[in-house]
Amino acid sequence: GRSRGVRPMFSSGLADRSFSSSASSSRKLDGKVAVITGAASGIGEATAKEFVRNGAKVILADIQDDLGRAVAGELGADAASYTHCDVTVEADVAAAVDLAVARHGRLDVVYSNAGIAGGAPPATLAALDLDDYDRVMAVNARSMVACLKHAARVMAPRRAGCILCTASSTAVLGNIGPLAYSMSKAAVVGMVQTTVARQLARDGVRVNTISPHAIPTAMALGIIAETFPAATAEEVRRMVTREMQELEGASLEVEDVARAAVFLASDEAKFITGHNLVVDGGFTVGKVLVRDPPGSA
Ligand code: NAD
Repeated sequence: GRSRGVRPMFSSGLADRSFSSSASSSRKLDGKVAVITGAASGIGEATAKEFVRNGAKVILADIQDDLGRAVAGELGADAASYTHCDVTVEADVAAAVDLAVARHGRLDVVYSNAGIAGGAPPATLAALDLDDYDRVMAVNARSMVACLKHAARVMAPRRAGCILCTASSTAVLGNIGPLAYSMSKAAVVGMVQTTVARQLARDGVRVNTISPHAIPTAMALGIIAETFPAATAEEVRRMVTREMQELEGASLEVEDVARAAVFLASDEAKFITGHNLVVDGGFTVGKVLVRDPPGSA
């Protein structure tokens, strides 16, 4: 029961252990269970690690089985396990969600993060290959509908839970990513807003997107290399880490996205839903397309 005694507004650290304990305040996801898709590599891998560091139990879901098992193994069998899950197959997504409940008795967070860049970006709309578009939409957008649907299936009855989706700065600015890719990411932001408004806010389930800007993961380096086939590997890396970055003195790393995910998944974000958290060092609000126009000096 609740204590009815009059308590001082600022109790001493010794008396109020839940407040003073550095262990509890540094472990923001203690006791929570999460499924993360695309967790074998890049942002998903970094997020799985950061979630476990913060006390969560994580199911890593991906199609790169060897890599995924290795990451889970590194995190320890108690905290992490790997499951094969092709996010374009609804039954796989449903099974990953059910596995979390079966293994840990609950599911607090689903991070729908898996994504692909698609084939060589077409220069024009006329050159857009609709088969490539279908594939990109299946992996990047339709998969997230499956995650929303099956996460909500187990979260809504409990009136609690958090769903995260990786969108992208390309969802906000139309001219920085390949056509189909940018369209798929804009769809992710839209579907999150729609499901929040239609149902999930009333169900007590929080849903947010995270929109990172360019980070030198396998996927992003692949996009740039295909867009600029003449560029060397070093030039490609520099384009992602320097030339596409706005914020001076810092560079975007997968851990920055992972920490944003920890915050949104934690109880500290209990009233944040329907939000698109852009993690881009100001790129989408500050980007001048011609950095130093002639005559500006
Ligand atoms: P990554 O290639 O390192 O990781 C993507 C992971 O998704 C891989 O492990 C891959 O095996 C997995 N995956 C691909 N298709 C899958 C499928 N059908 N089923 C299950 N898993 C699948 O790249 P990343 O940069 O970490 O990408 C993660 C997410 O971040 C993607 O949605 C991507 O669009 C998004 N994103 C990346 C950047 C960036 O610059 N790196 C920027 C904005 C958004």
